[in-house]
Amino acid sequence: MPRLLLAVCAAMYPGRTTRKSETRSEGTTGQHERLPCMTKRSASEIADLLEEIGRRAAFEAGNPYKAKAYVRAAASLRRLVRPLDELIREGALETIPGVGAAIAKRIETLYRGGTDEPLERMRAKLPAGLLPMLGIPGLRPAIILKLHSLLGISSLEELAAACRNGKIAKTKGLGSALERKIGQGLKIASEGEGRLRMNQAQAVLDQATDELKRLRPALRKITIAGDLRRSCELVSDLRLVAIEPEAGEAAKEKFGPVTLHTCPAGRFGAVLLHATGSERHVAQLADAARKMRITLGPGGLRRGARNVSTPREEDVYAALGLPFIPPELREGTDEIARASKGALPQLVTMKDLSGVLHLHTDFSDGANTLEEMADAARERGYAYLGVADHSQSAHYAGGLQLEEIETQHEIIEALNRRYRGRFRILKGIESDILADGALDYPPDVLERFDFVVASVHSRFRLGRAEQTKRIIAAVSNPYTAILGHLTGRQLLRRPGYDVDVEAVLKACAAYGVAVEINGSTWRLDLDWRWHRKALELGCMLSINPDAHSIAELDLVRWALAVARKGGVPKDRVLNAMSLQQIQHHLGARRTSRDRRARNSRSPRAITLSG
Ligand SMILES: [Zn+2]
Ligand SMILES: [Zn+2]
Repeated sequence: MPRLLLAVCAAMYPGRTTRKSETRSEGTTGQHERLPCMTKRSASEIADLLEEIGRRAAFEAGNPYKAKAYVRAAASLRRLVRPLDELIREGALETIPGVGAAIAKRIETLYRGGTDEPLERMRAKLPAGLLPMLGIPGLRPAIILKLHSLLGISSLEELAAACRNGKIAKTKGLGSALERKIGQGLKIASEGEGRLRMNQAQAVLDQATDELKRLRPALRKITIAGDLRRSCELVSDLRLVAIEPEAGEAAKEKFGPVTLHTCPAGRFGAVLLHATGSERHVAQLADAARKMRITLGPGGLRRGARNVSTPREEDVYAALGLPFIPPELREGTDEIARASKGALPQLVTMKDLSGVLHLHTDFSDGANTLEEMADAARERGYAYLGVADHSQSAHYAGGLQLEEIETQHEIIEALNRRYRGRFRILKGIESDILADGALDYPPDVLERFDFVVASVHSRFRLGRAEQTKRIIAAVSNPYTAILGHLTGRQLLRRPGYDVDVEAVLKACAAYGVAVEINGSTWRLDLDWRWHRKALELGCMLSINPDAHSIAELDLVRWALAVARKGGVPKDRVLNAMSLQQIQHHLGARRTSRDRRARNSRSPRAITLSG
């Protein structure tokens, strides 16, 4: 499993960060470094060493932030577009994201070559083969050390073999639960090989864009293409497209993991479309083009031998008799057929979102006060904010006891009086779904909230039937307004729990419970592949940040991105309702709840349709 080693380390990008011109000059000398600087280290060699320092530091007691800082700086160094020697000469190392004074000094020392004494001392303590194990989800340094001392495991290969042979299960102090977890972690790590979460991909491409702007001022319209532009939840294809006004032809070059396509202005549309993909979408368009005697290639659009001017992507689609297809929908399923019938969905946009729901404050595990979160939401132009701290049984996350709910509600009422209708805080809670599907407070407490987000945070290993029944019970609870992160999956960390998603979606539609699209880039749950089904069944969706700080309010952008990818239109989004509409919506739920309570002893009197 040596390839896994690459995946599980953040060393996602082996190989030196080169500029094309550098590569060419290397070609002539056959050397990797220019001859006069034989002892000097390249950016990627230094990145390897910084990462090693960070990973070794993680095994040592002390400051865990130090370990993370080195790994982060290593990742930034791998994405450098500008030559490192230039940055060092200008004393500009600290302009690299994540590089502060201490790490800048270390980089300079490493750059000059020679031995790094502190690193050598670290190396004497631990075998190198333990480091990649840090990349296995759920495997902490303490457990890795235990595996090493009890079973002599010193590499990923040995770890995988020990899992296969049941050695870990049989060892006292380790056990079968750990063996299962490691087996699952190894699988997830190999699936994640070379793939980044959306925010990571954005950071790589933003850094490359910034550097290109400084380094190549002639480039215009530097634009993100590839998987990220299509809002794929995991990104393996990192691409930028830019206009090179002087260029006669389209060309491409590589900067570390990023491919840059350049072209004259008149080809920008076709080149961008090609670099955005997906391969299937582009192949289907090329097929359609061929029937019209048009050639759609990576370098542009041609009719016979003549280049067709396509400064915008719209021009390419128009030449093929199609309306513009938003990048998120370009997966090569049925989007071209739908486009030709004029049946593409009108995708929700950021402007459509009036408010933001599901966020945490320092009452539970958030970093900011309610007022700070509300101010931040107002600055972002939202008309309302729905706070949803954790409920009482979430001890690990400071879930709210009764008195705390009362205090929070007093604060909300005072703030709402101050806002005089210009903005409103809605009283919500993220209630744990208990083992039997009940919510985490009695009805007289649930009654005090404007809305309840019901979420599973425990008992992930229930069987499919039991898990499905449990979640549907929570959905049918008349106080539930939103179902939080439906499957519980965490990308590259753990699969979702075993649940019949379609049955849960049917229940959500029947009980008028909105299905969350959670904006944490670990979650992005509900997965976009289910959105069309959810819409067909009649569900509303809620585009939520699940923010634990002010900065995380902006996680809404990722939830929005995948909602668009799932084809979600504005009129099916709970938080696209205006303040008045959502108050009316939540009020109507309250009235029907009261009516149901009066007319029937059972709050579950509604039957599931379909
Ligand atoms: Zn949650
Ligand atoms: Zn939450």
